[in-house]
Amino acid sequence: MLPGYLIDMDGVIYRGTDLIEGAVDFINELKKRDLPFIFLTNNSQRTRRDVVTKLSRMGITVGEEHIFTCAMATARFLAQSKPNGTAYVIGEGGLLHALHRNGYSIVDHDPDYVVVGEGRSMNFEMIEAAVRMIENGAKLIATNMDPNCPTQNGLRPGCGAIVAMLEAATKKKAFSVGKPSPVMMRSARQELGISSAQTTMIGDTMETDILGGVEMGYRSVLVLSGGTALGDLDYYAYQPDLVVDSIADLNKEEFFQLEGARFPKMERLLA
Ligand SMILES: [Mg+2]
Repeated sequence: MLPGYLIDMDGVIYRGTDLIEGAVDFINELKKRDLPFIFLTNNSQRTRRDVVTKLSRMGITVGEEHIFTCAMATARFLAQSKPNGTAYVIGEGGLLHALHRNGYSIVDHDPDYVVVGEGRSMNFEMIEAAVRMIENGAKLIATNMDPNCPTQNGLRPGCGAIVAMLEAATKKKAFSVGKPSPVMMRSARQELGISSAQTTMIGDTMETDILGGVEMGYRSVLVLSGGTALGDLDYYAYQPDLVVDSIADLNKEEFFQLEGARFPKMERLLA
C-alpha cells in the first residue's frame, strides 16, 4: 500500500515567485519512488495548464494530472449537483475554464449559481449584480474562504473577503468547496486513486491544509516555511501529525519510513 501526498503550493513549494529550497528535490524523490502526489491549491485564478507552466519555470516538471485546484473542485461539485447549469462568475480564467469543461454556461442574468473565486478584476457593479441574483434565488458558491492572499508586496484580499461582502448584503451563507471543505479534500484523494489511510496532506496553513487533513482522517504535515510559526500552534484545538521547518526536511529516509503507521504526534523530524 503506497502512501500518496496532497501538497499545498504557496508557502510549501514557493513563496510568491521564489522557489523554496528543497522543493525540487522532494518532488524528484517522490517521482523516483513512484509515490503518487498531487498539488492542491485554493487559488482559482489559474488553469491546470497555467500551474504546470508556472511550476516548470521554477524547475518543477509535472503533468497536468498532478494539479488540482479549488476551481476544478468547484466546477465538478456543481456539475454533480446540477448538470449543465448556469453560473454568474466573479473570478478569472481558471474558474471560467473549469466551469466550461464541466458543462456549465456563464451567464449575466438569472443564473443557478453565483460563483466567486480569486481575482483582481472584480468591481462594484459585479457585486451589485450578484447581490440581486442571490436575492432572486441564485445559490452562492465560494471556491474557497481564504480571507487574504500573501503577495511579494503584502496581503491582498482573498476570495473569502469578496464572499463576506455578498454574505453581509444578502444575509445568505455561501457554500465553500475549496480546502478545508471535504468536497475538495476528498476529490483530490480520489484523483490520486488512494485510500484515506494512505493519504498525507502537506501544507503551511492551519485553517485550510491541516484542518482539512484532520477532518478527513488523513495524516498531516505542517511546514513552517509559509504563514504559520511554531508558536501559533498553541491557539488551535487540532494539531498536525508532524511539524517541520520546510519541505526539505521531508526528503529523508526517516520520513518515508514513517509511512507504515500514523506519524507520531507532533514529532519534529529535524535535528
Ligand atoms: Mg499555502
